[in-house]
Amino acid sequence: MAIFISRIIKNYCMKKVCLLVLLVNLFLIPVSFAQRPGGTQGPEAPKDPIVEAIVKEETDNSQLVQIAQELMDFIGPRLVGTPQMKQAHDWAVAKYTSWGITARNEKWGEWKGWERGVTHIDMISPRVRSLEGMQLAWSPGTAGKTVTAEVVIFPDLADSLAYVNWLPTVKGKFVMISMLQPTGRSDDNWDDFGTKTSIEKMKKARTEMTEAWNKRISKSGFTLRTLPVALENAGAVGVVQSNWSRGFGVNKIFGAYTKKVPQIDISLEDYGLLYRLTEAGHKPKIAVRADSKDLGVQPTFNTIAEIRGSEKPDEYVMLSAHFDSWDGGTGATDNGTGTITMMEAMRILKKIYPNPKRTILVGHWGSEEQGLNGSRAFVEDHPEIVQHIQVLFNQDNGTGRVVNLNGQGFLHAYDYLGRWLTKVPREIRDTIETRFPGNPGGGGSDYASFVAAGVPAFSLSSLNWSYGTYTWHTNRDTYDKIVFDDVTSNVILAAILTYMASEDPVTTSREKSVMPLNPRTGKPGNWPEQTKATRKGGL
Ligand SMILES: [Zn+2]
Repeated sequence: MAIFISRIIKNYCMKKVCLLVLLVNLFLIPVSFAQRPGGTQGPEAPKDPIVEAIVKEETDNSQLVQIAQELMDFIGPRLVGTPQMKQAHDWAVAKYTSWGITARNEKWGEWKGWERGVTHIDMISPRVRSLEGMQLAWSPGTAGKTVTAEVVIFPDLADSLAYVNWLPTVKGKFVMISMLQPTGRSDDNWDDFGTKTSIEKMKKARTEMTEAWNKRISKSGFTLRTLPVALENAGAVGVVQSNWSRGFGVNKIFGAYTKKVPQIDISLEDYGLLYRLTEAGHKPKIAVRADSKDLGVQPTFNTIAEIRGSEKPDEYVMLSAHFDSWDGGTGATDNGTGTITMMEAMRILKKIYPNPKRTILVGHWGSEEQGLNGSRAFVEDHPEIVQHIQVLFNQDNGTGRVVNLNGQGFLHAYDYLGRWLTKVPREIRDTIETRFPGNPGGGGSDYASFVAAGVPAFSLSSLNWSYGTYTWHTNRDTYDKIVFDDVTSNVILAAILTYMASEDPVTTSREKSVMPLNPRTGKPGNWPEQTKATRKGGL
């Protein structure tokens, strides 16, 4: 179907019957954009010794567990500007070198340097309990001391003037700036065990409490960004929040806005405890020790590795995965799994297919989490490579096996991706839903940096394994969440697609499909524009 549509559109384009093209495209969108379950199904391709060797190498001799432990357990999270990020880049170069693959770290910018130290939080009154919590990224510490103080709740007052009058009362206190959650159980758990009435009641209460809290913040005249700064300027000794991720034990851990005092996140359970005790008039006190170091300005890097092409060395097949992470956990599924997938695919390709036709590159990007900065910088800095990328495959949405592949709006993506996929073992291929020509991604992960530059760049999109709730940017994104069977399958997929793309006698088409009509303007939508990398961040 997609080939048929492509041809129609192309023929009309040649005749420059543009309006008709739009009409044809508009008419056909529901068909061509529809999910096509099992869309890559087809007869088994003749056996290919390279493909068989790739599958065998990953099945018999996978290094995934080894490199996952080294990266996630030993080095740990990889927040931009931290020593661990640099350590990870150096580790990757050393690892590639040990596999006989040329690799380098490319500096592309600078970031606020910071190193996380110990965070220790105890409730010491009205009873003793050690609390689960941590400093947010880039938070100031407590200067080597333990700070003990009462906690107060950001109050519900009439208007911004009332808040101005209230502010001086925070002097010497920890201020809680998140709402109380009505339940610490996940929605899945409610669905399993709640009655219809109790579920509806809980959801109604949650919606009302959330709206009331948002209103409390907005009528204060502050935002969640400006409030922590106003509190520390008024003499608060710390800002306390709980960014619950709607699952058991999970909080999202992002960056602090305070400049002088710690901004800490406390688990839903312990935050709720403090909140209820405060509301009941028990004036709980907490003791906080937060060690962290401001390291000034630090350079930021991408790690690039390559297996030189033998026939067309100036054409590139590229693997891609961001290397950085948030640091609440160890970035195991965001994006440790994408990282080890691409590293392992490179290791196998070097061993099984050491003389590729085209040059095989891999990009391990820095600072994706702050806006695709490493990959955007690479696109800006290497036009000579970007112009000649045959294809790029990026993986960055968790540990799951790849189940979606979208043509990103490239008119002929179906032709080449479909052809290469025929070589992938059926048990891997048949669970991938394809969508052609699909829509060009404007963001979300690093493939978008390349799509914006017109490069056929695709996202190997994973089964979610409760990614959004349980691991994405959370304190539970750790080694134990990795599903190695799925990552193994993704390594085989990435390695075979790379091999096929490298061997393909045809250079891929970059022709873009006519974008779907924007219902507001009645005109076709625009291809995503290239965005400049932030080269100096967090300062
Ligand atoms: Zn990610």
